[in-house]
Formats: sequence, C-alpha cells, structure tokens
Amino acid sequence: MGKKKGYRGHYCKVCASILPNEEFSGKGHARHICKECWKLSKDEQTENIALNRIYDLYGYSNLSKNNKRMLESYLKDDSQRIREAAEEMLKSFQNDFQCEEQMELEDDDYQLGEWEEAESEEMQDEDFPF
Ligand SMILES: [Zn+2]
Repeated sequence: MGKKKGYRGHYCKVCASILPNEEFSGKGHARHICKECWKLSKDEQTENIALNRIYDLYGYSNLSKNNKRMLESYLKDDSQRIREAAEEMLKSFQNDFQCEEQMELEDDDYQLGEWEEAESEEMQDEDFPF
C-alpha cells in the first residue's frame, strides 16, 4: 500500500471517490465512471449519481432555489432510494422553508382528497355486475 502524496487521480461520479487513472477504462474515463461502477447497470449508475448529488447538499446551511427544485424533482423519481434520500434532505432543510412548505402541502392534500372520492365512485360502478 503506497502512501504517495499529491497522487493524481480521477473522480468517479458514481461512487463519488477519487481513484487512480488505471481504475478507469477509456470510455469510463471520459464519463467519470470507474471500472467497478462501469459494471453496474445503467439504472444503478444513474441512481448512485443522483444519490451523490443529493448527499452533496449535507453541510450546506441553506438550500438554494435550484437545489430545492432538484430535490423536488427527485421526489418523483422511479427509484425509491432516490425519493427517500431527497425527502430526507428536504426535511433537513425544512426549518428554513417552513411557512412556504406547509402551505404547499395543505394545497396538495386537499386536491388528493377530491381525487380519491372521484375514483372510489367509479370503482363502485365497476363492481356492480358481480
Ligand atoms: Zn466508481
């Protein structure tokens, strides 16, 4: 195990670490993905990159509008891990946005309630022939 200082490496955006250049293949090097992460499925790579972007926000004292928008878009992601991470991160910043967030949430709840009623009526109609 060498302890070289000032060692030149390359950043892998999937595992979020700086690794020696030999850990990257030609294509992976250009895309900032190391050999190990290259073996992952496209979905796993995308998921890890998103999670890194989310966890990158730890340590900031407040959330910029762009980052907030990014987190909110991740709340609708197909991946449960991403949704949970984004939700957790938004919560950690929520004290700063409390008034705004609460108003938005109340609006959403109201709309959801109306939708649910409409849907359950339709379902009753469909059940009738049985
Ligand atoms: Zn990697």
